[in-house]
Amino acid sequence: MFEESLARLKAEGLYRTLWRVDSPQGPRIRIGGRDLICLASNDYLGLAGHPALKAAASRAVTEWGTGSGASRLLSGSSRLHAELEEEIADFLGCEAALLFNSGYAANTGVLSALAQRGDRIFSDALNHASIIDGCRLSQSEITVYKHSDVNDLENKLKVNICSGVRWIVTESVFSMDGDVAPLPGIVELAGRYDAHLYLDEAHAMGWMGRKGRGAASHFGLEDRITLRMGTLGKAFGSFGAYVAGGRELIEMLINRARPLIYSTALPPAVPAASSAALALIRGEEGERLRVSLDRNLSALAEGLESMGFLRVSRETPVFPVILGSAKKAVQVAEDLLEQGIFAPAIRPPTVPEGTSRLRFSVMATHTPEEMERVVSGLRKALNRAEGDR
Ligand SMILES: *Cc1c(COP(=O)(O)O)cnc(C)c1O
Repeated sequence: MFEESLARLKAEGLYRTLWRVDSPQGPRIRIGGRDLICLASNDYLGLAGHPALKAAASRAVTEWGTGSGASRLLSGSSRLHAELEEEIADFLGCEAALLFNSGYAANTGVLSALAQRGDRIFSDALNHASIIDGCRLSQSEITVYKHSDVNDLENKLKVNICSGVRWIVTESVFSMDGDVAPLPGIVELAGRYDAHLYLDEAHAMGWMGRKGRGAASHFGLEDRITLRMGTLGKAFGSFGAYVAGGRELIEMLINRARPLIYSTALPPAVPAASSAALALIRGEEGERLRVSLDRNLSALAEGLESMGFLRVSRETPVFPVILGSAKKAVQVAEDLLEQGIFAPAIRPPTVPEGTSRLRFSVMATHTPEEMERVVSGLRKALNRAEGDR
């Protein structure tokens, strides 16, 4: 039935398949019997395999079993869920926090619950698919502004008057480019044009800002952001997501957010692991891991810059190596794989047409030698790709 569509994807270099990983997450993973440097994980602090998280999860399984049994509104809302929410609210200095089963569920559920008919969402052009889908599911008007362009945002705020509530939605660290949103400018506009800010900290939480509190903390703008969302499956090395903000907002979400109401709660072992991760992130170990991450991303940034891959924000662990066509990106990714480096090509529709790329994610647990191997491996792969043309 889909033969033609699949054939077309293959011809365009856009066909996707799943990998089969034979090892736990880590700076190195095993695929097809080979040991590879992994640049394709968002486990930035290397916590997914940390003994403290594993111990917390195992303890929870022993005490609480595997499944949560039901939605949070029925029997699925364990003490472990509630404690993690309190810990996150305390960590972020918010009145309350609410867990979701994933970042995808949080963005679709929260945006569709908050923005109603008559409201308007102003959304960054490069926002994540889960934000786009949340906007689509909401009954509100949507205005897309140019990526991180505060002038364009201001123009759009000026001309798009609406009777209801105005929301500005942006990621803090963009997932595919690793650049940081101009939050001070955005917050200033939100104040001037009476809009609320919804901030997706998926790629900032845990490593950026004071003690890993995210970009809002990095810029000292915590009080100016209505809702902060973040994932627990990336730098937290666990799974799930949260939103944090005022108590009334959280109460409204408990009453309205469909992915929360109509989906089985996270298994208790998951919030248990997330709580263990948060304790590490707030503590000395988190500090130590953030220093290692910083060392690694500086080394990689220097290496890539020497090859002409410049970028806007030097200080984040997400490095786009933009190559243009999907075919070239796939070719370079395959070459790297041959050299023992795992960084699959990222192609449309995940990124805009003509900006296919490799996306290198750095982890605190990589070694300086691994960063050097990545830089020299990329240099070789690019030379070979040029030679083929
Ligand atoms: C990964 C990601 C999400 C989704 O989070 P999951 O917990 O993986 O579902 C949402 N927003 C952004 C910006 C992301 O990168």
